[in-house]
Amino acid sequence: MGVWHWFLTVTGTNNTSGLWYGWWSGFASDLPEFAILLLVWRRINCHAKSCLRIGLHHVDGTPYVTCRRHHPVHSGPAPATAEQIAHAHARAHAGGADPADVSDG
Ligand SMILES: [Zn+2]
Repeated sequence: MGVWHWFLTVTGTNNTSGLWYGWWSGFASDLPEFAILLLVWRRINCHAKSCLRIGLHHVDGTPYVTCRRHHPVHSGPAPATAEQIAHAHARAHAGGADPADVSDG
């Protein structure tokens, strides 16, 4: 009785004029919103497999967006310090990874 009554209440199918009327006007009317949330989640989710974090950091030269734990430059789950950011910036500009440079090939 307890779980079944809870399920009927959550899905909006009790205390109505009909079970299916309550279902379609209650819980089932929210299914498109769940689909929208799923699509938004798939869009902002970290691209590393089975990672559930939100990905905000673009990996240079790739189409991937990762969380800070899986980004190859970021130091890990802890926030980067100003010195780490400055060092990464200097390394990126001094590294010479110029896509227009074809001198080695
Ligand atoms: Zn991740």
